[in-house]
Amino acid sequence: MKSTKEESPAVLCSDSPVPLKSILCTEEMNQRPARPPDYETENRALSVLVQSLADSPGTILQKLADTILEVFQSHSAGLSLVTKDEKNFYWPAIAGAWKQHVGGGTPRDFGPCGDVLDCNTPLLFRHFERRYPYLLEATPVAKEALLIPFYVQGKAVGTIWAMAHDDCRKFDAEDLRQLESLGRFASAAYQAVEVEEVQNSRSAALNLMEDAVHARQTAEKLNEDLRQSEETLRRLNEDLKHFAYAASHDLQEPLRMVISYTQLLARQFKGKLDGQADQFITCTIEGAQRMETLLKGMRDYWLVNERTGEQSVRVDCNRVFEAACGNLDLQIQESGAIVTHDPLPTVTAEEMPLELLFQNLIGNAVKYRRQSEPPRIHVSAQKSDHAWKFSVTDKGIGIEAEHLKTVFAPFKRLHGAEYPGTGIGLAICQKIVEGNEGRIWVESTYGQGSVFHFTIPDKDGDI
Ligand code: ADP
Repeated sequence: MKSTKEESPAVLCSDSPVPLKSILCTEEMNQRPARPPDYETENRALSVLVQSLADSPGTILQKLADTILEVFQSHSAGLSLVTKDEKNFYWPAIAGAWKQHVGGGTPRDFGPCGDVLDCNTPLLFRHFERRYPYLLEATPVAKEALLIPFYVQGKAVGTIWAMAHDDCRKFDAEDLRQLESLGRFASAAYQAVEVEEVQNSRSAALNLMEDAVHARQTAEKLNEDLRQSEETLRRLNEDLKHFAYAASHDLQEPLRMVISYTQLLARQFKGKLDGQADQFITCTIEGAQRMETLLKGMRDYWLVNERTGEQSVRVDCNRVFEAACGNLDLQIQESGAIVTHDPLPTVTAEEMPLELLFQNLIGNAVKYRRQSEPPRIHVSAQKSDHAWKFSVTDKGIGIEAEHLKTVFAPFKRLHGAEYPGTGIGLAICQKIVEGNEGRIWVESTYGQGSVFHFTIPDKDGDI
């Protein structure tokens, strides 16, 4: 194959090759709806091929590729031969969209033909570029490729193949039967090809193989660069975490001193200085207390960040709901809130963060209530394809449409002191949900209420 030396983004992203099994769909092919054998087409093809045996060796092989393309109505077709030392493959004949790659080749351990010979059986590949990323450069990309080994005196000497470049052409058992029939012709044709001819194609192939190896080395280097960038990012992230830890923990101590001494000041000098001084002292204490609350919020956020990745266990969400409401007992009693729930499922998650998630959402639903009536809050759960979707519904003050996305950002608040808070609760909820590979979002009608939804993947067929 001709390497373009341009780095394809997909090569850039490729990790180590995926296992062969993951790109095979041979079994699926055998289960596709059966077609009656089409002997007529097969015989016609074979008779054309037999006539071509009088031609030059190169022409015979190209005729074979052209015939496979025609019989199969595939998008590309061809023949690959293994070199005498069995270390490389070269491609003496290709027809269709991949014709431009004729004369190319790959090392044996570096492509689908080698895998077919190793398995010694026909294989149907789907997206084989996932295992052999350099094949992304061989455009158009193959959607399905059917390859069979062919033999000379019992020894596998190459493969013949047909390829589909769109999702409409799917190979079936009848295709395989016909390819095997043409494989028998390939065995005969191979023996008719002169050694000299083979040698010529081989030297051209070797040049192209060097290109392919170069492409692989480039991909490996890019992978290394990617690994280094990931490492740098990981370290930056660590630094940031340390910074957040230092900010939230180490600042607390001096701040407490500021609060204590200002309170002392207030106690000793209240009424002894002028009225403005008293007011300044009160504002200082309030400001410092607010800062303390914010630092606590930061620390809670940091702690949740640290906790994600802990052992997930089976958690009964009915129990989690009860625990969260227990923690909110005072607010629920004071507001006269009615908090109800549907039967909730058991999920696989980390228990404490899940409780905090319920507590923050129910707590907000109590807090952001309408003054005209006691809050009514309902928690429900619905099973979708691969996840449980939980919904916490309230009939509170609601959120304006323009804020629906931003409310999850750390320290984002839509209200002032009339509703106390730090703006960290929903950011923590988002961290917890994402730590469980779920998603969180809110729907709301301003003035009428909100529904906070979040999903938890159904990891073990949760009940
Ligand atoms: P906090 O409640 O401490 O301000 P949150 O992160 O929990 O912080 O919420 C962020 C903002 O989102 C709140 O300040 C509030 O304006 C809005 N909000 C959260 N929950 C609700 C709700 N159930 N109804 C209306 N607004 C809400």
